[in-house]
Amino acid sequence: MTKFERLHDKYVALHSLKDEMEKDDSLPLKKGANKLVFGSGNTETEILLIGEGPGRNEDLQGLPFVGQAGKLLDKLLELAGLERKKVFITNIVHHRPPENRDPLPNEIEAYGKYLDAILEIINPKIIITLGRFSMAKFLPDVFISQVHGKEFKLKEFNVVPMYHPAASLRNGKILEAEKADFTKLKDMLQSI
Ligand code: URA
Repeated sequence: MTKFERLHDKYVALHSLKDEMEKDDSLPLKKGANKLVFGSGNTETEILLIGEGPGRNEDLQGLPFVGQAGKLLDKLLELAGLERKKVFITNIVHHRPPENRDPLPNEIEAYGKYLDAILEIINPKIIITLGRFSMAKFLPDVFISQVHGKEFKLKEFNVVPMYHPAASLRNGKILEAEKADFTKLKDMLQSI
């Protein structure tokens, strides 16, 4: 298979997964949401970022991290020598929870099969989790305050848990820690 065919296959697979998700009326947050936020970015990347769930702006635009937290995320990516067009960004739930509340366990489970399919198609080397909900998918028994910015080698990929950018917008100390973590990530990416 040529590189072009492989690229094309990934792109087609993600599009058909998105179509399937859009038609799935069993998804628990679908009713209250405007748009599905499937994810966006480079389908050929080795780096996948997973946030929590769409907020108001993301729900209106159908794209992840397009509000204030997204602006901060762009700056953090820059500290790591990255940019959006080099990574793929998705969330743990793909419709907006009402009033931006935390996603519930049954919701995380319902969207989980689609997230797993995204993971399988993109097949990244590195997963950067943003916030405790996406961290808990891979590292269920840890505290974010103790593990943020560290690298965990799992069977299929490396996971680096990061604070959620929205938490950094609320708390200056978290912001400083997160900036340091993304700066450190630059070296980490070179060694992986
Ligand atoms: N916060 C998230 O976790 N995901 C988004 O897409 C936007 C804000």
